[in-house]
Amino acid sequence: MADRFLVAGARVAGAACAEALLMRGKTVTVYDRDDSERIAALAALGARTVVADGFDTALLDDVEEVVLSPGFPPHHPIAVAARERGLDTYSEPELAWRLRGPGAPPWLAVTGTNGKTTTVTMLAAMLRAGGLRSAALGNIGEPLVHAANGPYDVLAVELSSYQLHWSAELTPAAGAIINLAPDHLDWHGGFDAYAEAKTAVWRGGAAVVNLDDTAVTALAKNTNAETTGFTLDEPAPGQFGVALGFLVDYTGGEPVRICSADEVHPPGAHNVANALAAAALARGVGVSCEDIGRALREYTPEPHRNATVAETGGIRWVDDSKATNPHAAAAALAAYDPIVWIAGGQLKGVDVGDLVARFAPRMRGAVLLGQDRALIADALARHAPDLPVTVLDGDDDAVMTDVVAHAAAYASPGDTVLLSPAAGSYDMFQNYAHRGDAFAAAVERHPSAAAPSEEPSETS
Ligand code: ADP
Repeated sequence: MADRFLVAGARVAGAACAEALLMRGKTVTVYDRDDSERIAALAALGARTVVADGFDTALLDDVEEVVLSPGFPPHHPIAVAARERGLDTYSEPELAWRLRGPGAPPWLAVTGTNGKTTTVTMLAAMLRAGGLRSAALGNIGEPLVHAANGPYDVLAVELSSYQLHWSAELTPAAGAIINLAPDHLDWHGGFDAYAEAKTAVWRGGAAVVNLDDTAVTALAKNTNAETTGFTLDEPAPGQFGVALGFLVDYTGGEPVRICSADEVHPPGAHNVANALAAAALARGVGVSCEDIGRALREYTPEPHRNATVAETGGIRWVDDSKATNPHAAAAALAAYDPIVWIAGGQLKGVDVGDLVARFAPRMRGAVLLGQDRALIADALARHAPDLPVTVLDGDDDAVMTDVVAHAAAYASPGDTVLLSPAAGSYDMFQNYAHRGDAFAAAVERHPSAAAPSEEPSETS
């Protein structure tokens, strides 16, 4: 392994990487646009730290390898300069992989446009139900670079297209691609590059494939990995699927029931698909269908994914702030009718026309906020010219109070007010959780909203 590293981006994962390298006696330069306590702590550990708006390529002069945070796309000046100099450049999970020692736990990986966190948390629950020491990692939990040598039998790892793009050696024992829809196109430079990056989860030779997703099956045609498919339809032999309302494993001679589809939560077809993907990975390491079924029944969903935050005067208020692209928003919009839709933020180059055309008929009104609000307003004007739409111009999180007031004015008893933005949150909020919390707080403050419902975590 090299001796001199640049770690670009010092948020939680980047800082953990820098620390792990320093602990191994490496020479580390840390670069970030923003100063933070983390950077001061790394300086105290012996890192050279550089905080600056622009990136000076001289920083690469004495560097052998570069660890990049997801904020650095392939066209970023650091990435371009590192490539020109032939420097090995990779992501935090790749570093975690390279730092694995003897006996380190294997990885079961999950990628896809939406549902990664839900699927890895389901998977970790299944692995633990089967008596294996496991954790859900990736964008959640402790940094991978720490956990990779931790006291686990097997890890459930969520990997984004960014992280996979910047990887070369990382080899999960098995990997699932759960779905593929346009997202992060500006980062990757197009859908094909985005899709191609995801196939790195199949490097280990075992592929779990969503048979209902044509983009995923198209990728699977070109892999040499051994594939196991899952479908929401009745499975053929060798597949996972749904038969007579039950999730089943038909990889043996007979279909074996896992649990009833009604017992999967959050509810919705997309979560049954997530559960099947997780089940296929868990079965691959020998967890029984019975243990998998129990894990799904006892599973606690993550917040901001179709979570009902209040139910008052016959109106349901739902926080699906984690829907940061149209594909995720479609899953929530399909679950309710009629809807007052709250949307907007950073569309990241993705078109919302199809989403709007498909779901406008079930909308009572729409309230739009954030950077790309005008693009959504244009799509609504094209596909639903009669729909009442409010476009709010505020650019800080206080605008959520107005958002909720306008949404309340559109809503009638029996309606669902759905924050499912179809867009990223970083234009106005720290992240999707901050956006969802701001929404829930504004709902609670609104005069029409009484106390939260008795089942605040109910999802749909
Ligand atoms: P990720 O980690 O990929 O961002 P999450 O599990 O956090 O995925 O869910 C993100 C959003 O996508 C949520 O709004 C959720 O309701 C929705 N979602 C979850 N699973 C799926 C799926 N299989 N297909 C489409 N949308 C999904």
